[in-house]
Amino acid sequence: MLNLENYIRDIPDFPKHGVVFKDITPLLANKEALVSCTTALLNLTENQKIDKVVGIESRGFFFATSLAQHLNAGFVPIRKPGKLPFETLKQPYTLEYGMDALEIHEDAISKGDKVLLHDDVLATGGTASAACKLIEKLGGEIVQCNFLIELEFLKGASKLRKYDVRSLLTY
Ligand code: IMP
Repeated sequence: MLNLENYIRDIPDFPKHGVVFKDITPLLANKEALVSCTTALLNLTENQKIDKVVGIESRGFFFATSLAQHLNAGFVPIRKPGKLPFETLKQPYTLEYGMDALEIHEDAISKGDKVLLHDDVLATGGTASAACKLIEKLGGEIVQCNFLIELEFLKGASKLRKYDVRSLLTY
């Protein structure tokens, strides 16, 4: 098993001053690391039955689609406002400074669907928590929220207390 941390680089002051951005593109570009990361994320699900894997724009899409294929599930994108072409449900959420929102297609999840939510990074938890609200408004049952990276010092998991939250790497 590779040490995936070796394929993630810190970019200081991106996208703004004072933020240290975890860049996963070296991991994506390395074929062994890509397979190893997919396998490790799959192992987190412990063979639970999943109907839909929901990925959050945009870096959540990289592994969510591949997880869906391996889990014999469908893939559903959650995107920033105005990007999805069909009828959508919208969920606003608070950022450090200001507001943002996420959208999902209103027919993307059926009542009772077992859902795995995936994103690359769990930071403050605002994004994942808004995504969970969208999934539940459509009647989905969240089986697990999994992340490649959890920035534990930002305490995002505290916004996801009612869910099974798992992360491959914690900082
Ligand atoms: P949160 O809402 O504060 O938890 O931020 C999580 C969202 O911001 C995720 O969709 C991530 O893709 C993105 N994000 C936050 N920090 C980083 C980072 O260091 N690297 C990559 N993405 C990040």
